[in-house]
Amino acid sequence: MTPMMLLALAIVVTLFVVARFVSSGRIPPEKGFRCAKCGNYAVHDERTIKAWRNEKHRFFCKSCHRAWLAQNEEHYRVPSAQPKTGCLVLFAVPFFLISVALAVAKWILTIVV
Ligand SMILES: [Zn+2]
Repeated sequence: MTPMMLLALAIVVTLFVVARFVSSGRIPPEKGFRCAKCGNYAVHDERTIKAWRNEKHRFFCKSCHRAWLAQNEEHYRVPSAQPKTGCLVLFAVPFFLISVALAVAKWILTIVV
C-alpha cells in the first residue's frame, strides 16, 4: 500500500466518522423518562428521541402510545413507503468520497514532498 493510498484511506475513514457523528444528532440528556400517562419508567427510543428533538417535553411509553394510536386511528396515518436509496447512490457516494480522498492525498503529498 502506497503512502497516498494510506492517506486516502485515513481521509475516507475520518469522513465516515465525522458524517456518523454529525448525523446522529442530539440526544436527550437522560437515558429514559417517566411516561406522562402511566408513570412507568421507559427508555428513550427513536420515536421519543425524535419528539425530544422537536421540543416535546411529555413522553409516552410504547404501550400507552399504542393505546393512543388505537383510540385515535383517524389521527394515525400509515406511513407511506419511504423512497429507497437507489443503487446508484450506494456506489456513487463511496466512489465520490474515495476520489476526493485520493485527490486530497495527492495534493497533500505534492506539498509535503
Ligand atoms: Zn405509559
